Amino acid sequence: MAGQTHYPHLFTPLDLGFTTLPNRILMGSMHTGLEEDKGRLERLARYFAARARGGVGLMVTGGIAPNRQGWLAPFSAKLTTQAEKNKHRLVCSAVHDEGGRICMQILHAGRYAAHPMLVAPSPLRAPISPLRPWEMSPRLIRSTIQDFARTAALAREAGYDGVEIMGSEGYLINQFVAARTNKRTDDWGGSFENRIRFPLEIMRAVRAQTGPDFIVIFRVSMLDLVEDGSTWDEVVALARAVEAAGATLINTGIGWHEARIPTIATMVPRGAYAWVTERLKPEISIPLITTNRINTPEKAEEILALGQADMVSMARPLLADPDFARKAAEGRATEINTCIACNQACLDHIFEKKTASCLVNPRACHETSLPPFEIHTGTSKGRVAVVGAGPAGLSCATELAARGFETHLYEASGAIGGQFNMAKRIPGKEEFTETLRYFNTLLEKTGVHCHFHTTVTTEMLQEQGFSDVVLATGVSPRVPALDGMDHPKVLSYIDVLLHQKPVGRTAAIIGAGGIGFDVAMYLTEPDAVPASSLDAYRQEWGIDPDYRQSGGLAEARPAPPSRKVWLLQRSRGKFGASLGKTTGWAHRLTLRHRGVEMWGGVTYQKVDDSGLHLLVNQEPRILEVENVVICAGQEPQRTLQPDLKAAGIRVQLIGGAKLAAELDAKRAIEEGLLAAWAVEPLG
Ligand code: FAD
Ligand code: NAP
Ligand code: SF4
Repeated sequence: MAGQTHYPHLFTPLDLGFTTLPNRILMGSMHTGLEEDKGRLERLARYFAARARGGVGLMVTGGIAPNRQGWLAPFSAKLTTQAEKNKHRLVCSAVHDEGGRICMQILHAGRYAAHPMLVAPSPLRAPISPLRPWEMSPRLIRSTIQDFARTAALAREAGYDGVEIMGSEGYLINQFVAARTNKRTDDWGGSFENRIRFPLEIMRAVRAQTGPDFIVIFRVSMLDLVEDGSTWDEVVALARAVEAAGATLINTGIGWHEARIPTIATMVPRGAYAWVTERLKPEISIPLITTNRINTPEKAEEILALGQADMVSMARPLLADPDFARKAAEGRATEINTCIACNQACLDHIFEKKTASCLVNPRACHETSLPPFEIHTGTSKGRVAVVGAGPAGLSCATELAARGFETHLYEASGAIGGQFNMAKRIPGKEEFTETLRYFNTLLEKTGVHCHFHTTVTTEMLQEQGFSDVVLATGVSPRVPALDGMDHPKVLSYIDVLLHQKPVGRTAAIIGAGGIGFDVAMYLTEPDAVPASSLDAYRQEWGIDPDYRQSGGLAEARPAPPSRKVWLLQRSRGKFGASLGKTTGWAHRLTLRHRGVEMWGGVTYQKVDDSGLHLLVNQEPRILEVENVVICAGQEPQRTLQPDLKAAGIRVQLIGGAKLAAELDAKRAIEEGLLAAWAVEPLG
């Protein structure tokens, strides 16, 4: 971009020969659930149009199957007919009308499919699936190659600028490439040349069907992170062969879905896999796209400036902020609503068979039903008070002010954020700071009147003459009814995380919900930290940057924990059952690495000088710990509500103040937005 001063590498156009992309930002493929819309794909079109308007260089849709066997689940999106093609026209024209470009991802799920027709090179069940796949016959293999080509041709006719062939993450193509899943003895298995025949024939057939002036991205699995995955030499050989077969761009795939290493969760350091793409870069001549945990323009720029890749893929960051690219280009990066890699509203929703959205941006995937965020500049629509500057109050106050209300935000403490000020201190949740930076910028930009160190009373609000008040006063921690709760050994999670009170070398945690898990993570964080967070992460999970073994695995060597911790719950159910579907397993595994003892079915009795007294399987035990940390859930904090109502003031409750049970920031932020739109303007 001529004269571009912000992030010059990120905003250098990328010449693909027959077309030029305006910048180096790719919105990576991400399934949202909108692909399966029964109607005209209007929601999908509006979703992508918003991102195209935001200036992203190129986008890739969620995976679309080339045939029924390739479905991810029964009746998932596929593109095999003229009628299906016509539905996609709306998506393409909506994107093109906004000046954007879009590729459609062709994904065959192979043995990851959740339906009875699943197929694979060999009949081996995936460890994350209850279903055993059917072995593909040579005839089915040939017809599947043609199905990929037909789908690519239909995508071109629908108006897509290109396709991405999904060759990674352990899906069908990857299953052919890796010896782990390909045990065939015919022309499609055995030697490496035979195992890569399937992807190469797909690549050639797609190119032949779509012509030379059509973008074909091939996503190569560069680091399988499973046993018997590809070796580095095989990755290089495949990438070179894919280039020779006609790919326009190569995208990076990291980790199979069945790998037991977190690769995109918030605990993964930013840009943790740029080294993989960097390693491949000298081996090929077409542009290379890097991926995984890149969520700021600074990180993306750094990767490009270091020459680690030619383009940067960001999927969730574009869900979180459709205007990411435009804000970065205009030097407004502090206004970017940064993805905190929580997975709570995107991937977790998909695994729960719900439409994806975003914890920090509830509008994502709801572009047709929620009003756009626009800052109103006319006369005031009324005066409203929001009490509490946690996530719920912040979301509500900034929406109200943007709508044109004179908005007063009252906060008892000296800073915004509420419980996020504790969450951000949990090792691996540092990204939560970005949400506070975003809201701080937005409060200023929308002109919210902030009143800190102000514990609001009903009289104050009455005196100020507010007709509407939104209570976002959050929660109070629950204190179990036990003897010894006032013993000096006993601390609340607020004492530990917010007030940073010292904790001894042994601790018992009462309560194993989200906060109990986080406190266990905090208390066991190793003292001896390797040179960088990236080294620590690789050592803990067993990733070898020298790629000496197939799949890139090494022996996991977690650092010793700083404390001995017991995590306790009264129920006998699974520990961490309330944690996110796509991240809970990694939290459980981390605590196991750190030797945390998880005891369920306990009955608490008392705390005294000797420690925590409890019954375990009806047997009396004493945990002789230096501290007992209470993480026993929370109660709503809404004492102001009755008096405000009695005074005739309209009151809305949001976030923890409304309901403490199963509260999370996703609900708090969404309720803030909805409450702001429920306030009626004056006149
Ligand atoms: P709060 O965040 O509790 O904010 C309420 C605010 O109101 C506070 O700032 C308080 O000072 C203020 N206030 C109260 N009374 C008054 C008054 N009378 N006058 C003025 N101000 C007042 N959620 C997730 O979704 N994902 C996570 O990974 C996650 N991790 C967490 C980790 C930890 C350690 C903790 C503690 C919480 C975590 N949460 C997480 C929960 C999340 O932070 C809460 O769901 C969210 O903060 C609730 O938002 P809220 O605005 O309703 O309340
Ligand atoms: P929580 O998830 O409801 O867990 C409360 C824990 O306390 C449970 O393990 C419960 O287990 C125990 N408990 C409840 N009443 C008790 C009592 N009277 N005495 C002793 N133990 C008791 O609540 P939380 O951990 O405080 O978390 C609050 C919210 O923050 C959660 O809803 C969560 O969604 C959110 N959060 C999310 C994350 C995340 O990673 N997504 C992280 C942190 C917080 P038993 O009843 O079996 O003992
Ligand atoms: Fe990112 Fe969380 Fe939003 Fe998903 S839900 S896009 S991980 S902030």
